[in-house]
Amino acid sequence: MLKTGADYLESLRDGRVVYIGGERVDDVTEHPAFRNGARSYARLYDARNDPKYRADLTYEENGERFAAYYLKPRTKADLEHRSRCSQVIADLTCGMMGRSPDFIGGYLTGAVMQPEIYDRGQHKFSKHVLAYFDKCRREDLFLSHAVTPLQGSKDTKFSGREAIQTPQLAVVKEDDSGVTISGIKLLATGAAFSHDIWIGNIQPLAPGHEKESITCMVPNNAPGLELWSRKAFERYAVSEFDNPVSYRFDESDCIVVCKNVKIPWERVFTHNDIPLSRAIYFETPTHTLSNHQAAVRYRTKLKLFLGLARRITQANSIDKVPAVMDDLGHLAALYGQMSGMVEGQIQAFETLGNGYLNYNRYLMYASIYFAYQQYDHFVGKVRELAGGSVLQMPADISVLDNEATRETFEQLWQGQSASAMDRFKVQKLAWDVLASEFAARHWQYERFYMGPAYIVRAHNLREAPWPEIEAYTSALLDSYGPGPLLLPGRED
Ligand SMILES: Cc1cc2nc3c(=O)[nH]c(=O)nc-3n(C[C@H](O)[C@H](O)[C@H](O)COP(=O)(O)OP(=O)(O)OC[C@H]3O[C@@H](n4cnc5c(N)ncnc54)[C@H](O)[C@@H]3O)c2cc1C
Repeated sequence: MLKTGADYLESLRDGRVVYIGGERVDDVTEHPAFRNGARSYARLYDARNDPKYRADLTYEENGERFAAYYLKPRTKADLEHRSRCSQVIADLTCGMMGRSPDFIGGYLTGAVMQPEIYDRGQHKFSKHVLAYFDKCRREDLFLSHAVTPLQGSKDTKFSGREAIQTPQLAVVKEDDSGVTISGIKLLATGAAFSHDIWIGNIQPLAPGHEKESITCMVPNNAPGLELWSRKAFERYAVSEFDNPVSYRFDESDCIVVCKNVKIPWERVFTHNDIPLSRAIYFETPTHTLSNHQAAVRYRTKLKLFLGLARRITQANSIDKVPAVMDDLGHLAALYGQMSGMVEGQIQAFETLGNGYLNYNRYLMYASIYFAYQQYDHFVGKVRELAGGSVLQMPADISVLDNEATRETFEQLWQGQSASAMDRFKVQKLAWDVLASEFAARHWQYERFYMGPAYIVRAHNLREAPWPEIEAYTSALLDSYGPGPLLLPGRED
């Protein structure tokens, strides 16, 4: 059954262990480092009952209604539906919450679209994946994930570096009831707010690391599980006016620490099989369904930055300067390119041959590489357009609390066509999304959420349609001589 926002918040009060430094967080829904983040997710839960969003955020199957990120696409309309769902979620979170529930919802949905892969090795775990998917959409669960092996566990042939001993998460015991895992895992964004964590390995593990090749679902309140948060920016946000995005949308990133955490077999998806623990992401729609969300979310972020660039130039009365208009045209073209790349993934969809469809995976990886390459450039351009104006505002909104400073501020900070308060809001938003510590974390996020750039390039190398590309080049090379150029497939 679909949860309401209140149900969701209640479900987070489950005894989970979250640390910020040495401080144990009792309740993420009330703690000043997490409470607004929790409320932003709760708003997403509530939005499903809002007639404005309900059709996009949910779907119906056999009389039951589920979150649309659990929809298994059979038609192009289904792909569009999933995409609209991610669009609404991105719009409601300003593109700032990368691991919103639709991201790992895509992992799991992709898994059950080709579940036979989970029976490929010595274990036959497809039934676990299918049953877990059903539980997940019925109980309306929010999943996060930690799938990055620690540096020393990666395959040296792939990573080009020496293996070293690290406390990487691994199976330390197994018996009839399940496995026991211990160690740490990077870097579960959103875990402080999720119900279960998908533990896995998306980068190749080195031979000998079989015990680490576990893929399993761990409840956030499992005995022995601890979430160690990075510095929480929400805690330092002065107010909604001063830090409008870090105040609301700090999704958190946590190291997952497991101390003899018991996982029943029905929550285990791969075990003791290094190649399979990686293949499940790329030989099913898992990685593509989830990262289509990443492209949609990025488009929303660019929309916000582009709108901000325009508002900054208007507030600073430079919007009619030809060179500034040229810059805005440049940024508008980049936003348009990203939009086209999102739509292209739907338009050039793939047929899986079993009744299901997938977004075009090559175009998905290409869009992520574009996003990765353009982020610094886009942010840099908007900062350039902002000039010093982002630092010319009073320190914080308390300027309005003092009659003397309020009057001066309202008189002297007003622009030709904008009030002092309008200018304050624009500049504070600009600083929060482009230059603050929260913004710096986003810089790191946009560069690494799919792995470092060389990994994203490797995905593009793997998925590019080489036969078609090579055939085209060969056709030209083979066509020298009299007569017209013949294109491959168009010989007649
Ligand atoms: C904000 C943020 C949120 C994240 N959220 C999640 C999450 O929710 N779940 C999750 O599982 N992970 C998450 N990650 C982790 C992310 O997947 C990893 O950080 C990412 O894969 C990079 O891995 P690494 O840190 O081991 O970098 P490394 O592999 O150590 O690479 C670091 C740098 O070393 C260089 N380098 C290393 N090896 C090579 C090579 N062979 N060729 C060329 N250059 C090389 C490159 O410059 C590279 O950028 C997140 C990361 C960040 C920053």
